[in-house]
Amino acid sequence: MTIIACDIGATEIKGARYEDAIAIQTQRLRTEPERGAHHTMNQLHKLIGQLWTEEVRAIGIVSAGAINPTSGMIVGNTGTMTDWVGVSLKADIETAFGVPVHVDNDANGAMLAEFEPYRQAGIQHAVMLTLGTGVGSAVVIHGELYRGATYQVEFGHLILHPGGRPCTCGQSGCAEQYLSGRALTNRAIAEVDGAITHGSELFLAATQQNPCALAVLEEYFDDLFLYLQSLDRVYDPELFLIGGGVTDNNNLFATMLEEKRLEHCFTKPIHLARLQNRAGIQGAYLLAERG
Ligand SMILES: [Zn+2]
Repeated sequence: MTIIACDIGATEIKGARYEDAIAIQTQRLRTEPERGAHHTMNQLHKLIGQLWTEEVRAIGIVSAGAINPTSGMIVGNTGTMTDWVGVSLKADIETAFGVPVHVDNDANGAMLAEFEPYRQAGIQHAVMLTLGTGVGSAVVIHGELYRGATYQVEFGHLILHPGGRPCTCGQSGCAEQYLSGRALTNRAIAEVDGAITHGSELFLAATQQNPCALAVLEEYFDDLFLYLQSLDRVYDPELFLIGGGVTDNNNLFATMLEEKRLEHCFTKPIHLARLQNRAGIQGAYLLAERG
């Protein structure tokens, strides 16, 4: 079956046309959320148009923001896509292209894709964190995505440090302000000597035994395990999945994660995501393929 899959992020919209489960053609366009939701939708139409062939039978779309997958409406903004609520993502694209459209939140899409081999192995309960620009979260319970009553399961805004750093959601001390890749990079820039501009340089500085870099990462992993312990008590999953930019191509992340897991006596398995930034689009494909 020919399917178009799209992943709408705050920076860019990625798209791919799949034929028999293989991505044949890919495209990307800038999201430019500062120009408004109408512009973002125009970009999405343009991108799908570039991938379109008469053989396309379904479209899967994952997006940042909270989404009702049944109505296909956006029900929650993000820090950068501030007028995204109210967009009829599903109906708009179905009307324009005349094929069934399946939509969901990008963290749920990434979970669908990353969880697939575990599902096939009989795993029923899992929690996934995406440590990227923000902190994305997704939960599988009894083999199904758990979306909550209003589609706003958002671990990123659990308060990790009461009265702590202000967050885009209006609270202070949210996990996202400590555990996201952006938070880690900001801290590295502020506290580590040398021109650190990216989180990966922080890990490099740590391998060179830079004491400031080591201290920043020590606190980062202590925060992460405090957070994982709370999530474990709420959901009691069989395993945790962790993905996002902080973990990509980062052997030191895996090494420190394991060291800290033992130090914190955390017994649940933690697996790193394997699809990196392809997880969202692969999840969009699975949404459309499963119908
Ligand atoms: Zn928040």
